[in-house]
Amino acid sequence: MKIKFWGTRGSIPVPGKDTTEYGGNTTCLELTIHGNKKIIIDAGTGIRALGEKIAQDMEHNRLYLLITHLHWDHNLGFPFFPPIYDPSYTILVDGHPLCLKGLKNTFDNRMGDGYFPVKFDDLNAKIEFLGKIKESPLDINDTLIESIELQHPQGGLGFKFHEGEKKLVFLTDNELREDAWIGRTPREYEKFCQGVDILIHDCQYTPEELDIRRGWGHSDYRSVVELACRAEVKKLILFHHDPSRKDHQVKEIEERCIEIAQNLQPGLIVEAAKEQAEIEL
Ligand SMILES: [Zn+2]
Ligand SMILES: [Zn+2]
Repeated sequence: MKIKFWGTRGSIPVPGKDTTEYGGNTTCLELTIHGNKKIIIDAGTGIRALGEKIAQDMEHNRLYLLITHLHWDHNLGFPFFPPIYDPSYTILVDGHPLCLKGLKNTFDNRMGDGYFPVKFDDLNAKIEFLGKIKESPLDINDTLIESIELQHPQGGLGFKFHEGEKKLVFLTDNELREDAWIGRTPREYEKFCQGVDILIHDCQYTPEELDIRRGWGHSDYRSVVELACRAEVKKLILFHHDPSRKDHQVKEIEERCIEIAQNLQPGLIVEAAKEQAEIEL
């Protein structure tokens, strides 16, 4: 499995000189699995550049798009994803039960609400909602994908990918807290992440910032490293960087996380997600 980050930022895109290293686009990941199949996670602003790459490559006209939740920063790039205008593409969507509604809402609708010059119904690609993954694992070309509910306002889903022996967990927009809703305590996420090769987790805040941002649905770096250590994951990737965070500040958080991990579980590799970075699993 290959993983490429096309958007790593939380909440709102932040282009500019302060975000060139870790990136300014919002959530979008490209997974390349068995048989060179493509799975895209989220349609944040990073999906635009990914779509341009895919559009040049005629091999991929059947795409899977998994959407974690409805918030703007995870859907806003969809109208700028070139394959949706090409009739040769089929886009199979799954994830949050209302995610197709979320994607449609980024376009104009039949009533002419004026959000975008194109109507969703006029798109040329075939776009279908599978609606499976919340209820049972989804099998895409022998890659099995499980889901778990997120602790986040309006809800959301995290995903675990199994490809042979290899395992990847993606949990963004997730607040690790002991007084969580049923089924969403840190203990439950620990079980979900147990022994995985890579955990990509929301790490928007510092522990100090969290004091005034409780309930916003994001985690502080200390809780995230503690989860990764308890779950004995091999590699932790810090994700959904706060929009106000400059490159050197993301780097500082990464260094602090490495320090915490060295005390708790010396073998754990920790790094902050970088836009355009590619990982082979
Ligand atoms: Zn978000
Ligand atoms: Zn969110």
